[in-house]
Amino acid sequence: MAIRTEEQLSAFIQETVRSTPVTDIHTHLFAESFGDLLLWGIDELLTYHYLIAEMFRFRPDLPYETFWSMTKQQQADLIWQTLFIENSPYSEACRGVVTVLSRLGLDLSTRDLNEYRKYFEQFSSSEYIDRILSLSGVRSVAMTNDPFDAYERARWEEGAGQNDSRFLTALRIDPLLNGWDQAYLTLQQQGYQVAQDFSGDTIQEVRRFLQDWIGRIDPLYMAVSLPDDFAYPEASVRGRVIDECILPVAREAGIPFALMIGVKRQVNPSLKYAGDSLGRSDIGAVERIVSRNQDVKFLITMLSRENQHELAVTARKNRNLLVFGCWWFLNNPSLIEEMTRMRLELLGGSVIPQHSDCRILDQLIYKWDHSREIIAKVLCDKYGDLFRAGWRLEEEEIQRDIAGLLGGAFWNFLGKPDPAAV
Ligand SMILES: [Zn+2]
Repeated sequence: MAIRTEEQLSAFIQETVRSTPVTDIHTHLFAESFGDLLLWGIDELLTYHYLIAEMFRFRPDLPYETFWSMTKQQQADLIWQTLFIENSPYSEACRGVVTVLSRLGLDLSTRDLNEYRKYFEQFSSSEYIDRILSLSGVRSVAMTNDPFDAYERARWEEGAGQNDSRFLTALRIDPLLNGWDQAYLTLQQQGYQVAQDFSGDTIQEVRRFLQDWIGRIDPLYMAVSLPDDFAYPEASVRGRVIDECILPVAREAGIPFALMIGVKRQVNPSLKYAGDSLGRSDIGAVERIVSRNQDVKFLITMLSRENQHELAVTARKNRNLLVFGCWWFLNNPSLIEEMTRMRLELLGGSVIPQHSDCRILDQLIYKWDHSREIIAKVLCDKYGDLFRAGWRLEEEEIQRDIAGLLGGAFWNFLGKPDPAAV
């Protein structure tokens, strides 16, 4: 059906963005079969590392060690008191918690954390997964599956990950690229004949390790997060692992290599896992890896705002590069809007505007609610420009485009049908 007025256009875009199911291409969530690797509930939400870092800013008197020696519930109490009671929770990470509580139907006027805790006790994790996926309109999520994590490996050996098609797999291989001096020992323990100095059969054995895990978990892609000083090509262990192991295996398996570039690890070790920061990276490294390996697909996101424009331009020049998401410190409304606007202007619909990066199941609600609102706002402007120029749109065309942005472009890039699409 054709859209006749600009008001009708805006309303249709907003409703379509709200109701179109999402494929969330990168999260740290787990299916129920992984047991306690799946995090959910109010105490997990409040002790998310974004909030820990924010709390410390308001409590210069609090020794780091005092916080780290508390139980999770005590930490959550302190964060609630500091960020939600003694201050107003309008930072994006705090606002996210408010959105979640609100959409779960909890009474925000009480601000009673113990009341909220009781609400979560009524659900099994299986019920809660259904509830959150339904509320957030997320059809499927890609997990982050780490074969270097002994605990997760044990879950795979027990048969986890087999029976819930809403949870997709992704093979995460950070230690191979960022910590070879430990990673080779893990590979040896798993029966691979690798040497620290890369001699002998090391290259073949690292490839065999990757192939075995691809065979075991059938990942959508292989993924790594990289420091802000990532270089390519490079005469280093990382450079060799990429060129001689990962790229050949990605090529052969026909799956993308996902790079998340720009993390500066542990700028404040006292903050522990909340202590990482970011740095601007060299787009030249991205240009070289994608253009020299055109028969490999790359999913790339970068952490620094300053890299976003050049990343989008690099994607224009290399169709084997799909840009995705507003990652971590970029996941703020002002930056999501700026990036989404620019990406749609430079790349049309050949982009994945957002992924959630959720570590806690409940966060799917706010990450997607907030992003959907911004994506709809930008699309209203873009389609509005077309409309005012005399371009008449059919509802089906808008539905097609939005389905692409919220998942279709990803599946097209993979060259696979979305298994969750009916
Ligand atoms: Zn992540």
